[in-house]
Order: sequence, then structure tokens, then C-alpha cells
Amino acid sequence: MRFLIVEDERELAATLQLGFRQHGYEVDVAYDGEAGFAAAMGTPYEALVLDRGLPKVDGIDLTRQLRRLGKTMGIVMLTARDGVDDRVAGLEAGADDYLVKPFEFKELLARVRAVTRRHLAADNVITLHDLEVDLDAGIVRQAGHIVALSRKEYVLLVYMLRFPGHLLSYERLRSHAWEAGNAPSIEGVRAHVKNMRRKLEADSGVRFIRTVHGLGYRIEP
Ligand code: CA
Repeated sequence: MRFLIVEDERELAATLQLGFRQHGYEVDVAYDGEAGFAAAMGTPYEALVLDRGLPKVDGIDLTRQLRRLGKTMGIVMLTARDGVDDRVAGLEAGADDYLVKPFEFKELLARVRAVTRRHLAADNVITLHDLEVDLDAGIVRQAGHIVALSRKEYVLLVYMLRFPGHLLSYERLRSHAWEAGNAPSIEGVRAHVKNMRRKLEADSGVRFIRTVHGLGYRIEP
């Protein structure tokens, strides 16, 4: 198993790396968000340990970018503050778990192992009704036929399929699929979902994306 630690406190990074190595794991280290992004895109890591406060690209943005690009590895975020908003921000960005500094190494190890188990157990194909999304290949099939979605539609669909039964508000979809400065209006989000729906529902009698009036959507499990 191979992990990546992204942590700008070099002493802490070295301690964690040593600890993981002692438990038989291969571990790489990056010291800022940009280097972490490059490493995570170039190597198939099973898990990332990510500091929230990082130079260049912070841990929240890095998590969001990786999830947006379909990366499914387990992510444990390290935060210096134990505020509810901090935890929610990390989890909403796509982290699987978080740990507040300072922490015991054995607790981090346990959490990394837990998210890795979840990750390994998770199939890289999501299926719902007659829909199948191959996350490794980035291909959506419906009743066996490939559906040509735009990149944004794909990102939105994969995210929505991860939360069947949940209310997916326009805000939540917007913050998942777009950079903060680049996000469209709610109308823009709706337009993307509408196009995606049109493509998915054109050949199928199955309507699995429900509109929750004025709020967003819900995927029928
Ligand atoms: Ca830091």
C-alpha cells in the first residue's frame, strides 16, 4: 500500500513518514498543495494524509480538485482547529475523515487504515437502475449504451450518485463542481443538471433524478 503525506511542517511530515514506514507502508511526502496535487495525480495512492493549512493550494481546495477529477483514494485531513465549520468544510470538500492536531500517531494510523478499507471495498463502478459509471475509465453507460456527458455533467453525476437519498442543494453542487471564483449562478447549475438529465433520460424510462422544488435534487436510490 502506498500513501502520500502532504504537510508543510517538515518535522511532522518526517515523523509520520517514519511511522508509516515502520508499519510496512510505502509513503511519499509533499510539502505544499501544488506538489501534493502533482504527486496525487501521477501516482495511484491508496490514501492521502493532508494538512488543511498548506502553502500554494490549501488542503480543502486540493481535496476538492482531486475529487472533481474523479480521484477516489481515502483522504484523512489534519486540522489545527477543532471547529464544527472546519470539520464540515473538510468533509464537504470530499475528505473521508479528519484528525485535530496534536494527535497520537496510532490514531492517525487507525483512521488511514479505515478509509483505505472503505476505499478498497468500494467498487470503481457505480450502478443505479440501468445506469453504470466506470470511474476508472470515466465512462457512463445506460442500458449498455455510452452516454456522452460533458466534463461538468460527469462531475455532477458522479457526485450525485455518491449520495442517493440525500438532498443535494444547488449550493452543494456548485461548491463541489466549480472553483469559488468561477461558479455559475444557481440557474447555471440547473442548466447543467437539466442537460445531463435530458441525455440520461432520453433513452430510458427511468427518472432517477428528482427535483426538490426550490432547493435542489435528490437521487432515487
Ligand atoms: Ca500547515
